[in-house]
Amino acid sequence: MGDERVKAEALQILGLFQALPRLVVFDLDYTLWPFYCECRSKRESPSLYRHAKGIMFALREKGIDMAIASRSPTPDIAKVFIDKLEIKSMFVAQEIFSSWTHKTEHFQKIQRKTGIPYKSMLFFDDEDRNIESISKMGVASVLVENGLNLDMFKLGLSNFATNVAASSTIYKKSSRARPHVVTKAKVPKACVLDAAGGGLGLYCGAGDAGVLHGKAHEGAPSMALPPPAPSAAAMLSPPVPSKERTLNPTRARGDEPDLLPPPPPPPPP
Ligand SMILES: [Mg+2]
Repeated sequence: MGDERVKAEALQILGLFQALPRLVVFDLDYTLWPFYCECRSKRESPSLYRHAKGIMFALREKGIDMAIASRSPTPDIAKVFIDKLEIKSMFVAQEIFSSWTHKTEHFQKIQRKTGIPYKSMLFFDDEDRNIESISKMGVASVLVENGLNLDMFKLGLSNFATNVAASSTIYKKSSRARPHVVTKAKVPKACVLDAAGGGLGLYCGAGDAGVLHGKAHEGAPSMALPPPAPSAAAMLSPPVPSKERTLNPTRARGDEPDLLPPPPPPPPP
């Protein structure tokens, strides 16, 4: 289905609802595009999920603003891809930075920049931790499993309408809806630094029984992942004396980057 056909269907869906958001906020990785951008090179030509652009065209035609909230640790790559995909002009705000908060900081910045209240926003993301924290702020939020598509779009608008109705019903002051759509378990994927390549590359691929398949480097050996460690333990791990960003090798599909904390300052002489 081409972008114009998707746009026409998205406009039809928008016509079904009286209450529409003033701002739609998208995550990037596995929401607008099917990869982690830190696993890609700026030289590549990225592609979006096949309905994403048509949906954005429809929102723009309807006069609904759009923004990005991403915890990508490589905003430089993300911004290059946004440029290459020719969607930069679609967004009134782009908050792309790594953060320990589950995007609450991103939304605070978006709210300050746009002046749009949280209850007038709709958010799409593939990670339930982000959905949970942002829906608590009063934003209608939708967990997408296989990226943004027309079904998820319709579900999001429906959740938004429910959210508005719940917050405007004076007899149900405590009944604010928290749209939280849990879908089936996700396929684990992983992304680790390429130690054999001097730390310059990244292996990305579908994890299977703890084995990582380094498709990006032909002839490179597969690497066995260490057993999963609790995230608290990961945070307490000794700092890694390397300039390269260190990813938690147990990172799974749907997880946003788990960066190790920065090393402590040296003791005074
Ligand atoms: Mg994501």
